[in-house]
Amino acid sequence: MRTPFIAGNWKMNLAPAEAAELARGIAGAIAGLTGVRVALAPAACALQAVCEALAGSPIAAAAQNCHWEASGAFTGEISPEMIRDLGCRHVIIGHSERRQYFGETDETVNKKIHAAFRAGLEPIVCVGETLEEREAGRTMEVVGRQLDGALAGVAAERATVATLAYEPVWAIGTGRTATPEQAQEVHAFLRARLAERYDRDVADRIAIQYGGSVKPGNAEELLGQPDIDGALVGGASLKVDSFAAILRVAH
Ligand code: PEP
Repeated sequence: MRTPFIAGNWKMNLAPAEAAELARGIAGAIAGLTGVRVALAPAACALQAVCEALAGSPIAAAAQNCHWEASGAFTGEISPEMIRDLGCRHVIIGHSERRQYFGETDETVNKKIHAAFRAGLEPIVCVGETLEEREAGRTMEVVGRQLDGALAGVAAERATVATLAYEPVWAIGTGRTATPEQAQEVHAFLRARLAERYDRDVADRIAIQYGGSVKPGNAEELLGQPDIDGALVGGASLKVDSFAAILRVAH
């Protein structure tokens, strides 16, 4: 019922020309592949080049962050409206690297989500616990709080076009992946929380991606879990072969 959704997060890698080349390479490698939604999130400076490279392809472009205002005196920021006007469909919000290094809070995440909807973007909203929080048995408390904070004031019709990404912080860029069972447990918890906030039908329509060292070798098992609807992929999205292999597993 939920089409698998795989997004590549290129983080602060690849200048515009390199990003456009990789986007073209991925589009070519998966031409004709159906049954999977795909998005690529280059650095802000490469968004235009990637949008142009993806013209005519079903692959969507995504920004990695946005401000919550439409315009104004916010040096260094870009707004959801600017991102939309470049031709992007999605924006990643609340990635753990932004929470950890740039002071992102549940409150700013919430403001950015409302702003993304205002601009007509479909946000990819990240939640996830640190290793310390997991070891203290606080995983569900942390991701539950992040989910409630992120979606405060978001109506059901809008929530259904958002994607959630469960990304345990200890699995991002570390080569250490949550087991399929660990990931499924949290995804099922998040879906139950969505059903409490909205209703079962809405919860069943929201895609929940897993993120954290997803690679061709572990994608099948992770994506085979009933509540894992896709993946947010960092390192393995930077090469055509590894990302295309994950997409072929997902479809
Ligand atoms: C990410 O940045 O969202 C991520 C999951 O990275 P990696 O796949 O490299 O762990």
